[in-house]
Amino acid sequence: MVHEFKQTWMGRKLVRRTGWHYVPTLSHWCPACEEVHDFAVEQPFTNGAKWTWNGIRSAPSFEPSMNIRVGPYPEGLKETGMVDICHYFLRNGQIQFLPDCTHSHAGKTVPLPDIPAETVGKFTPIEGDPNDAS
Ligand SMILES: [Zn+2]
Repeated sequence: MVHEFKQTWMGRKLVRRTGWHYVPTLSHWCPACEEVHDFAVEQPFTNGAKWTWNGIRSAPSFEPSMNIRVGPYPEGLKETGMVDICHYFLRNGQIQFLPDCTHSHAGKTVPLPDIPAETVGKFTPIEGDPNDAS
């Protein structure tokens, strides 16, 4: 099976990505981590995680919450033994960061930002028209 890297605009706030995981994802910009996070809505990730999407590009909701844990880091990397947590609900175009996040946005609710195309499209161009609301 070929995993071709491809990114396609789904409005300004979501991009459909293939090739980063074994399944396609709908991805958004996380202003706390300053990277995209990936929801699997078509097929589950290998760990079984799968989300529902309300289908609204400008004000997306995904259920259930996203809970990203990175680490603990091995000796010599970052803060050894530390776990980075980004845990949030994305509902109606608002990111509700939960209190257990280890970054500066813990406990805050912020509007979902537009995807910074120059950052996300740096290695793989984003295709399509971000203004196409269909
Ligand atoms: Zn994040």
